[in-house]
Amino acid sequence: MKDLNNVRVRFAPSPTGGLHLGGVRTVLYNYLFAKKYNGKFILRIEDTDQSRFVEGAEEYINQCLSWCGLQPDESPLAGGEYGPYRQSERKGIYLNYAQQLIDKGVAYYAFDTTEDLEKMREDLKAEGSHSLQYDHRVRLKMKNSLTLSKDETSNLLKSSTPHVVRIKIDPGQKIKFTDLIRGEIEFDTDNVDDKVLLKSDGMPTYHLAVVVDDFLMKISHAFRGEEWLPSAPVHIHIWQHLFGLDKMPQWAHLPLILKPDGNGKLSKRDGDRLGFPVYAMNWTDPLSGELTKGFKESGFVPQAFLNLLALLGWNDGTENEIFSLNEMVEKFSLDRVHTSGAKFNFEKAKWFNHEWIKKLPANEFSEDVYKILEESGISKIDHNFLETIISLVKERCTTLLDFVEQASYFFQSPETFDIDAVKGKWNLTKYEFFKLLSKQFENISEFKSEIIEEKTKQLCSENSIKIGEVQMLLRIMLVGKKTGPGVFIIAETLGKSETLKRIEKAANYFNGLQYT
Ligand code: GLU
Repeated sequence: MKDLNNVRVRFAPSPTGGLHLGGVRTVLYNYLFAKKYNGKFILRIEDTDQSRFVEGAEEYINQCLSWCGLQPDESPLAGGEYGPYRQSERKGIYLNYAQQLIDKGVAYYAFDTTEDLEKMREDLKAEGSHSLQYDHRVRLKMKNSLTLSKDETSNLLKSSTPHVVRIKIDPGQKIKFTDLIRGEIEFDTDNVDDKVLLKSDGMPTYHLAVVVDDFLMKISHAFRGEEWLPSAPVHIHIWQHLFGLDKMPQWAHLPLILKPDGNGKLSKRDGDRLGFPVYAMNWTDPLSGELTKGFKESGFVPQAFLNLLALLGWNDGTENEIFSLNEMVEKFSLDRVHTSGAKFNFEKAKWFNHEWIKKLPANEFSEDVYKILEESGISKIDHNFLETIISLVKERCTTLLDFVEQASYFFQSPETFDIDAVKGKWNLTKYEFFKLLSKQFENISEFKSEIIEEKTKQLCSENSIKIGEVQMLLRIMLVGKKTGPGVFIIAETLGKSETLKRIEKAANYFNGLQYT
């Protein structure tokens, strides 16, 4: 294990679109590890592939991290002593390293045109080759500094002939490393291709840039998705020849998050197909205008989002499933991260959210509920009143969006009533009873639920009317439906005058139903 006194980890996304929940889990594990060892968590934007650049994607990543409360210590925004943290701004740095690899005979110039590469693949197909990649099997048939003379190569370079730099991976070697989650991993170089390191526009590819920057930024540990495992031999080869393997960060390749049904990595399409979010926050593709739903806008609280992500591939060895970020920092350890993929289960995700909504004090998410209610058409909400309401109904809310259904009636009197529930129970006697009850309510000086309840019960027994029926009718009068917290608490919360108004309005409405 590397020195844990100088832990520096990084999340290194390419800004190409929305942030998949697997990406946030990578951020989280990096973050937990960094904080556990008082280290640094770095955000590095890997934007060297200009053809995949998407407007707004970097800003979106920043917003997602800030929603989750996973703030980087060093980043393009926060700065830091190893910047710039955007690879496109480091272009000049990589050239020199590519040159070093060429000088050592570990990389070479390749001048092949698109047509040459196309022909190479056609020929390989015609030969029935199982691999169509540019590797040790074909490189000596191509136009590169391995097949051209020194003079030919330097003339092509002098005349600025478009070219790339490729790594030279020789067959018959074993490349090994110890993954912190998976243990010893060995690759046979026979099937590793000669990846491009420097493109014709002078930009490095991910493979060169990731190694150079992990070195220059003194990254001690690198946690990334399992999909990067096949690239590991290329990176190790570069490490070995540029900086030495002892400088290489210790890697951990995180297990995939799998679709709920069948096998394979959970994709955005699975979310669309099965109706759940896969991105952290809503993402609108700037070109197509297509919107992909996020957890935030689906009413998840960040505490629950992080908690559910942590548990997709890790547990603390006990039955406990609810962890705050601080608790996760304390409990997290790589040896409890699973090697096999974790199936995503949206029902379980909602369970986490429900648990967190119940657990958190109302003021933690009242701003979000405020906005959600406002969007549903409720205006001029008093903040203190809203917090009271949230505390009252949060047990019933699985997502923040449920507050519309569960809390709206506190802000506006019901427009519709559950008539089926009322029908058999409403009659002239009840009408007279509610008139009397309203009088009693009017006389209550301190409109508290216990007193309201006591007065109601008393009047019921005096008039030989069942309290259960009265409670149900009163609830429908106040709320419009049969659900909600205790009816006397609702009355207290609405206040005397609003309660009386609603009783009168509903009673008249029920009368109309009965007698017309
Ligand atoms: N830029 C890579 C990505 O988009 C980073 C992979 C790594 O962490 O090495 O995921």
